[in-house]
Amino acid sequence: MPLLTPFDPWKFKLCTCPPKLSFNPYTGCAHHCLYCYATYIPRFWEVREKKDLLKRLEKELEKLPAGAIISMSNSSDPYPPVEREKGLTRKCIELMKEHGVKLLVVTKSDIVARDADLLAEMRAAVAMTITGRTAQQLEVNAPSMEKRIKALKVLHEAGVPAILRLDPLLPWADEREWMEVIESCSFVDHVVTSTLKLKKDAYSRIILHHPELKETLEELYIKRGQRISSYFYLPKELRVEMLKKVEAKCNELGISCAFCREGVAFKARSCDGSHLLK
Ligand code: SF4
Repeated sequence: MPLLTPFDPWKFKLCTCPPKLSFNPYTGCAHHCLYCYATYIPRFWEVREKKDLLKRLEKELEKLPAGAIISMSNSSDPYPPVEREKGLTRKCIELMKEHGVKLLVVTKSDIVARDADLLAEMRAAVAMTITGRTAQQLEVNAPSMEKRIKALKVLHEAGVPAILRLDPLLPWADEREWMEVIESCSFVDHVVTSTLKLKKDAYSRIILHHPELKETLEELYIKRGQRISSYFYLPKELRVEMLKKVEAKCNELGISCAFCREGVAFKARSCDGSHLLK
């Protein structure tokens, strides 16, 4: 199994990402988000190292065309707590830098700030997922919002293009939470946002941990929502309403804003912030 694989191998019809490769330095994720889409991976909550990671990565990087974009990571977090001692992700980034890769980091971890020097040198961009206090209740072991905002600020100050991933927007959260997050991150170069979409297992996990949400989820996702591929979506009019509120706030602050897998048009130059990569 190669380490670098095409992003979105299932060619999801609402995905607007440019061609890019996906890379996960670790298998499994420690953050334990109840809404996670990647739990089809066996023993998902257990973070494991990959065999011969660095040797294999180097071989695959040698074959890449110039200017290839790598997105790290999409089915795990590249900065699990163990990365503090292991430094594996940092070693992978060093290799990518040597091979002239355009790197887009996606994380919920403040550990990423440790690599600000390296990421700034290679003009990598970092997307930090922060969605507000209500969403954080579903991100069981992830670092606090405050730590994530601070880390993103450190990266921005080091010259790393910073992206706020305001994802997922929860329909039962107070929209003021989203506005507060955007205001706290008003230094970012781009915002990408998306409403909560649920796979069957995530739906059951959320209800198991938060039985008080059962009725709301049933009403919004099962009775009135849309089924798109293997996901339950909110009704389109509600999604548009939520997304437009975020877009209006970004417009007010002069930040570009895009939507992820929504089928709703946006003006930003890319959804994922890849336009910031040089
Ligand atoms: S950080 Fe991402 S991959 Fe990890 S548990 Fe949360 S949603 Fe899943």
